[in-house]
Amino acid sequence: MQTKLLLIVCDGLGDRPVNGVTPLEIANKPNMDTIASEGICGIMDTVRAGIRPGSDTSHLSLFGYDPFKYYKGRGAFEASGTGLKLQKGDVAFRCNFATIKNGRIIDRRAGRIEDGLDEIANDINTIKLKNIEIIFKRGAGHRGVLVFRGKGLSHNVSDVDPENENVPYNICKPLDNSIDARKTAKLVNEFTKETIDILSKHPVNREREGKGKLPANIILCRGAGIKVDMPSFEEKYGMSAACISATTLIKGVCRDVGMDIIDVKGITGHIDSNIANKADAAIKALKRYDFVFLHIKGTDEASHDGDFNSKKSMIERIDKEVIGRILKHLKDIKDITIVLTADHSTPLSIKQHSADPVPIAILGDVRADDVKRFTERDCAKGGLNRICGINLMDIIMDLSNRSKLFGA
Ligand code: ZN
Ligand code: ZN
Repeated sequence: MQTKLLLIVCDGLGDRPVNGVTPLEIANKPNMDTIASEGICGIMDTVRAGIRPGSDTSHLSLFGYDPFKYYKGRGAFEASGTGLKLQKGDVAFRCNFATIKNGRIIDRRAGRIEDGLDEIANDINTIKLKNIEIIFKRGAGHRGVLVFRGKGLSHNVSDVDPENENVPYNICKPLDNSIDARKTAKLVNEFTKETIDILSKHPVNREREGKGKLPANIILCRGAGIKVDMPSFEEKYGMSAACISATTLIKGVCRDVGMDIIDVKGITGHIDSNIANKADAAIKALKRYDFVFLHIKGTDEASHDGDFNSKKSMIERIDKEVIGRILKHLKDIKDITIVLTADHSTPLSIKQHSADPVPIAILGDVRADDVKRFTERDCAKGGLNRICGINLMDIIMDLSNRSKLFGA
């Protein structure tokens, strides 16, 4: 009998020991441990062994789309995630509203600006560059998306955002010798200059400066990307699928593979997110969809901040408010296979993604092993051994009795 599938991904969950223990090893998380002890466990290289995954490439891989074939820059997923529909030939960038002073970027988030960004975005959309159309859309907080639409554009250009402060912004450069890349880089540099011109005298910024706040006086672009044609999730697996996530990038990946995006109240993608609402939404979605993907970002955020206690308490919240809630409803949602894992490790010691494999536990009609705790080191002793993310969908399609027979 076929089962439904619930894939729970805690972003950046895997870690390395700090003073001998990882956050997963010390957190109180009885429900995650239940999945581990009643299920089959393992560790997983989400992209390939030794490759440090981005959240975009890792999710593509977890959904069974080889990122080495399908990944063409982050900007396209950011654009999809904010609801922009890209056309063939468009180049999309992710952007930050930032503050520049005396030629240096002094705040990459313009004092975490939130207000007045619609007015600013409207004026950015009036920028005219030669023979191309400009589409700019603000995203959450200090973020936005820029799309260049026109002939002869390339995504093979470098970032303007220096991803650092107290330094000048980078001049965009072509990353190959093509006319298209050279043209696009030139356009990006013109765009950046125009944003400084428009924003330096913008009323929203005058008002901010009057209140002693940092102005949003430059837009920094990075992560140029193009839309890639991918077979839809439904075509590939014959399953209807839904995504629950607050993160623009992840929603973009899911939208591009054809999943429905479920809006949930109170979710933020930060450690303060209302993740209980996400769990409730997932339980409800499982009645309608064959495959539900539930993504929680807070663990990665705490890791990038290098905050051990925050990561530990986020794990405890996920355990109680998400996993506990879902396990309680297992009686109502019969015939389900639950997968609990991460998209990559983000060790606190380095505050960035690493290639350390992530723990994975699968609960359902599985050959349960001896692993009792959901941790990096316990799961490494499990029955799944060490798997690759690109094989995850095949493995769980089989465990949910949805695989086609190969041969006769
Ligand atoms: Zn991630
Ligand atoms: Zn991250």
